Amino acid sequence: MATIAVLGTGIMGFPLARNLLDVGHDVRAWNRTAEKARPLADRGATVTATPADAVAGAGIVLTMLVDGDAVQRVMREARVGVSENALWLQMSTVGARWADQLEDDARQFELGYVDAPVLGTIRPAEQGELVILASGPVEVREVCTPVFDVIGKRTLWVGEAGAGSRLKVVVNAWLLGLIGALAESVTLAEALGTDPRIFLDAIDGGPVGAPYAQIKGAAMIAQDYPTAFPVRHALKDSRLVLEAAQVEGVHLKLAEALAERFAEAVDAGYGDEDMAAVRRVAGT
Ligand code: NAP
Repeated sequence: MATIAVLGTGIMGFPLARNLLDVGHDVRAWNRTAEKARPLADRGATVTATPADAVAGAGIVLTMLVDGDAVQRVMREARVGVSENALWLQMSTVGARWADQLEDDARQFELGYVDAPVLGTIRPAEQGELVILASGPVEVREVCTPVFDVIGKRTLWVGEAGAGSRLKVVVNAWLLGLIGALAESVTLAEALGTDPRIFLDAIDGGPVGAPYAQIKGAAMIAQDYPTAFPVRHALKDSRLVLEAAQVEGVHLKLAEALAERFAEAVDAGYGDEDMAAVRRVAGT
């Protein structure tokens, strides 16, 4: 069993830390808002007041924070406490540019670095069923296995560090597009006097009927948006898609329109609702 520092115990970080604890790992947890990490202490975690305290003595440091900027700030704070030969598993969604920047930081801090964002949301995180898009040196992969096997149902090793975040950006371009198209289809159905439940029924089980459309479509029809993946993260991720495309000289007009929609939803005060709440501004 390993000593693992978990930095960031939000929607995703908390269940990851709990699952690692439940199989017997020694977990040291830190979160900016301390009360979110505190319940982990009841399950045996050491909850610390600073990131540097959390990483002290840990062989593995796992970051699950909002974005690249937050990860960099927190790791710079943590640096003084970090153990020699520790391995950093960077699992937040940070995009391609930040993944490379954080790799440079890891080199400077003399830390092993694995770029490993995840697919899946709150329930898969709770059930240890995430898909891990891992990338990094071959020689550290074995060390990652006992951690990834607890938090995920599948680990894809996709290449050198940074390849995982690039793949995550591609998946997000697809996923965010799906949500945007679904929001507009539900809105259009209602405008046309077509029951949107019949729209979902028509596509169900067919090649264009993604299971995801059933879940998020039902939320949109019920106008009930309990948060799994907040709109503000969808805005962040749509901007990461645009940033990556721009660097490569690719013009993604759909992604631009989507980013605008998510920004409208955030500006209208829906940033903390689930991303399906983009439906609230679709058609305006
Ligand atoms: P979350 O609940 O909003 O957690 C964000 C975490 O980042 C919290 O620990 C938060 O601390 C911390 N944080 C934010 N700004 C910070 C700062 N300036 N300094 C230090 N800490 C800061 O979101 P989440 O869903 O767990 O997301 C974590 C990562 O997973 C994100 O990159 C997200 O895109 C990715 N992800 C999420 C999902 C999902 O379905 N939710 C799925 C796949 C990937 P506080 O608690 O103090 O705010």
